[in-house]
Amino acid sequence: MDMNSATSHFKDRFGYSPAHIIRAPGRVNLLGEHVDYNDGLVLPAAIDRATYIAFSPSSTNHSTIMAVDFDQQAVFSLEELSTKTQSNGSPLPEWAHYPAGVMWALREAGLTTPAMDAVFLSNVPRGSGLSSSASVEMAFALAWQTLGGWTRSPLERALLGQKAENHYVGVHCGIMDQFASACGEANKALMLDCRSLEYRALPLPESVALVVADTTIRRKLTSGEYNNRRNACEETVKLLKEHLPGIASLRDVSLEDFDRLADTLPPELERRSRHVVEEIGRVNQSQSWLDAGDLQRFGQLMNQCHISLRDLYEVSIPELDAMVEIAQDLRGCYGARLTGAGFGGCTINLVEREQAGEFVERLANGYESKTGLRPEIYVCRASDGARLL
Ligand code: ADP
Ligand code: MG
Repeated sequence: MDMNSATSHFKDRFGYSPAHIIRAPGRVNLLGEHVDYNDGLVLPAAIDRATYIAFSPSSTNHSTIMAVDFDQQAVFSLEELSTKTQSNGSPLPEWAHYPAGVMWALREAGLTTPAMDAVFLSNVPRGSGLSSSASVEMAFALAWQTLGGWTRSPLERALLGQKAENHYVGVHCGIMDQFASACGEANKALMLDCRSLEYRALPLPESVALVVADTTIRRKLTSGEYNNRRNACEETVKLLKEHLPGIASLRDVSLEDFDRLADTLPPELERRSRHVVEEIGRVNQSQSWLDAGDLQRFGQLMNQCHISLRDLYEVSIPELDAMVEIAQDLRGCYGARLTGAGFGGCTINLVEREQAGEFVERLANGYESKTGLRPEIYVCRASDGARLL
């Protein structure tokens, strides 16, 4: 699965060689969970699993896009974008909302999106928390930039991808996923300020592996819990404003002020907002540990994050706790925590690369004997963001 297979699928489908190939990665988030919607700091890294797109300008005015992983194609042009239909009148398949949404967002920004022949395929697992959707969006945004002859920065393309996902696909996501896919750097984590969108690359030594362990639990109806948490944060800001009139979000509350005022909050709101305030503090702290190459201490911040998500934010489940506890006892593991919204999904583990093979085997066996479930485990490294190959 790489650029060669994108090329050969393109030739099979269109009968000629593609003009360009792009690779756009998925991502993991190392620290900073449930803080993006509080104007906080997050710490994602792009990974070495990616979407590949092979493409050429089309001689027609329709884009013909083939999703190799679904063995389906969609044909659409600008005229059909608003109705989410194909040129033959049939509805766009769900996966095609991502490329069509990117086309829509680019057009809204006044950018040209020439018709293309394209095939794309990916080894980012779908719906597992590694942001396959953002990798697809960043692949298409760069593809249209390549054909359109305009230039936007990676961060600007990320914002356009987010707009596509929010307003065309209809998924209420933050900027982190597209940001990491667009702006990633090999052997670096990216500390992103979700308020100012400023970011800094921090070193992740090559000797360390980013291991993602999927509990295989998929909870439906978690959007209620998610909205609930967001509301708790907003509610807390309203209450704290009586004492701290200058704050706009939990980002603006120092730990000292929070500790001083915690008693004035209802207990549930105190737990929720303490997680956010302390988690933003942990991401801040992580800069100096990563700059110093101190993975031990950085890993401890990940472990603390898990406890906070479990006990204060209350978004863990027994399977996530089991995966984390087993991992933390294994050799070579610096830190482990649940990642993503919670209630299922994955854990992220920072593991000495030399130990990663044994780590994966022991974690899989330990988790299976505790839960009866066989986990999916992905050993990744921090990689570059979306690029023309
Ligand atoms: P994730 O956490 O992986 O981003 P999402 O639910 O946000 O999960 O996005 C998954 C959706 O993105 C898929 O259902 C599909 O519509 C689209 N997608 C992702 N990868 C591919 C792919 N390889 N081919 C076609 N569509 C894809
Ligand atoms: Mg997604």
